[in-house]
Amino acid sequence: MTTGYDALVIGGGQSGLAATHHLRKHGLTVALLEAGPEPVGSWPHYYDSLTLFSPARYSALPGLLFPGDPDHYPHRDDVIDDLRQYAKTLDADIHTHQRVDTVTHNGHLFTAHTDTGASFTAPSCCVARAPRPRSTSPPGRTRRSAHSFSLRDEIVCRVPARKSVVSRVLRPIRGWFV
Ligand SMILES: Cc1cc2nc3c(=O)[nH]c(=O)nc-3n(C[C@H](O)[C@H](O)[C@H](O)COP(=O)(O)OP(=O)(O)OC[C@H]3O[C@@H](n4cnc5c(N)ncnc54)[C@H](O)[C@@H]3O)c2cc1C
Repeated sequence: MTTGYDALVIGGGQSGLAATHHLRKHGLTVALLEAGPEPVGSWPHYYDSLTLFSPARYSALPGLLFPGDPDHYPHRDDVIDDLRQYAKTLDADIHTHQRVDTVTHNGHLFTAHTDTGASFTAPSCCVARAPRPRSTSPPGRTRRSAHSFSLRDEIVCRVPARKSVVSRVLRPIRGWFV
């Protein structure tokens, strides 16, 4: 079991990377758990000819300009390269080939259990595994109660304390479930 982190971030796409950036900016240590071989999100699975619908100036992740002419429309592979480079700037522990199956909570710590048999613990846990509709809480639980759940059930977790640093850091990020 790997312990000692302030936060777990599940999913190494642009959401997970941006969240990690903000958490690190506030001095929190992060374990980012990514199922795939590298933290580049869904982009390698998109079609070859994909070009972004917005120019580079509007496609940057927080803290790093998108490379090249700000008015050009980046290709899918440019986005993958950008995510790769961005991940390197984060000073976070990025654990690839770690698909999280289940997250448990013991009242103090979240533990993410992965398909390799590894587990990672931290007082806060953010799920950034892909865009999802706003989830309901696990059956029988309130929105902010400590809980355990299976990611295969498509349930997202929330940080346990509304006023926690993690909650404050992530609240401005659109689409986050905190
Ligand atoms: C065809 C197409 C074109 C698009 N064009 C644009 C565009 O031009 N501009 C734009 O801004 N957006 C575009 N999008 C949307 C954009 O791709 C998504 O909004 C973006 O990828 C969402 O990022 P994300 O990090 O939330 O999710 P993802 O990129 O899906 O990343 C989620 C990550 O979580 C990992 N993961 C999943 N489950 C687990 C698990 N259980 N444990 C650990 N890791 C896990 C995955 O491996 C993945 O790396 C497009 C989407 C599509 C489909």
